[in-house]
Amino acid sequence: MAAAVPPATKAQATVPAKMMGIQVGAVSFVDEGIEKVLDTFQNDAAINTLFIATFTYGRGIAGRQVPGQPLPDHGAQTYDTGTFYGGSYTAVDPKYFADTPFKSFRAPDLGNFDVLAEVIPSARKRGMKTICWFEDVFRKDLPGIDQLEEKELSGANATTLCFNNPNYRNWLLGITENWARGYDIDGIMWGSERQGAFSNMLGASHGQAEGGHVTCFCQYCIAEAKQRGIDPDRAREGFLELQKFVTAGHQGKRPVDGYYVSLWRLMLRYPELLAWEMLWTDSLRETYAAMYAKVKSVNPAIGMGWHIWHNNSFSPLYRAEQDLTELSKYSDFLKMVMYNNCAGERMVNYIRGTGRAMYGDVPPQELLDFHYRVLDYKNEKPLAELAGAGFSSDYVYREARRARVAIEGTKTRLWPGIDIDIPTARTSSKCTPEGVRDAVRAAFRAGSDGVILSRKYSEMRLANLRGAGLGIG
Ligand SMILES: [Zn+2]
Repeated sequence: MAAAVPPATKAQATVPAKMMGIQVGAVSFVDEGIEKVLDTFQNDAAINTLFIATFTYGRGIAGRQVPGQPLPDHGAQTYDTGTFYGGSYTAVDPKYFADTPFKSFRAPDLGNFDVLAEVIPSARKRGMKTICWFEDVFRKDLPGIDQLEEKELSGANATTLCFNNPNYRNWLLGITENWARGYDIDGIMWGSERQGAFSNMLGASHGQAEGGHVTCFCQYCIAEAKQRGIDPDRAREGFLELQKFVTAGHQGKRPVDGYYVSLWRLMLRYPELLAWEMLWTDSLRETYAAMYAKVKSVNPAIGMGWHIWHNNSFSPLYRAEQDLTELSKYSDFLKMVMYNNCAGERMVNYIRGTGRAMYGDVPPQELLDFHYRVLDYKNEKPLAELAGAGFSSDYVYREARRARVAIEGTKTRLWPGIDIDIPTARTSSKCTPEGVRDAVRAAFRAGSDGVILSRKYSEMRLANLRGAGLGIG
């Protein structure tokens, strides 16, 4: 007689194990205790994968709550204004950094606390995976960093680092190898929230790009340009003309033929403008490919993937550069940012930014409608209500669906980034448990392989984290 085994439920039979990830900085483990944090993750949102901020000089993914924003209902109830500095939150093995002048980058904030060494054993016991998560955010006051920096159009050093500069490329490969060889990790994720000179000059992002500080015009980029048959002098000349166009726009001095026509005239006169933009984008792709190859040479089982910047949701130009079929060649996974709550005010910033020059003749609401059309958003609010409302979960569904189709048939897994309490202006939309739940549901309904709760646990309220848990299944 057969044993009375109950049949598998429909859910067990059809739903594969989904990746439930959360981004968390070292400070949360120090402030709240490793076991307590992991208990919360498992109990509140069925988290099975940690994306630990192992390196950054930015507050977006490390440190406590951003000063000026309300502290969440867990963790130390004071800001780390005086102690946050950034750097590597893991031990640094100097042998991986012999071929770069940037060698001293251990974060001083938390003493000798090595977040991977401390957290991985507990995570393993619970069956949780650990992925190193880092971004290319640096600061000016670091020894040797000037030899990695990009050059602005003016020739001055930028705060950002150049992907074509071997000093930076070697550093990226060094830190990747350091983690891959030194720790029992499951993967590495890296993100670069930057773009090329053409996009930056036009202010085509939700951030505050300053036209004059576009990059990169360093010796390595110039050599790379020449190899591609791009004349660096013509490029510089073109960007100086573009700068004049943008400055005039900011001063409200409309060109006689209008903004859009005048921009096209510049692009036709100086095709180097777009060639320089693509050179930058290709150098980022080459960096991805080099890091991917490095990790696989150490251990093919370690996953390597990328955080794709939120600008992908706003700028058609930036979106055109995020060719997912191309990226999938060197991506085990893609974290496509789909932060729907803060997307509202970010889209408003993007519309205001590009409306100052490139689209200076188009009324803002019309410009927004145009973007909704070309980006395929069908259910979002008009400009006046957008910051207060945020984007809908339908946006998450549409973006996840688009990415799903683009990478279908490849090895790349799709893990949308979901917004939990990313700081917004006082009058802008705030996350709710229902909103987070709906965003997670939309991501899975679109066929995502997982989600990454973002940006960092230290800014999330627990009720909203539990909202993510409600979105599963
Ligand atoms: Zn450069």
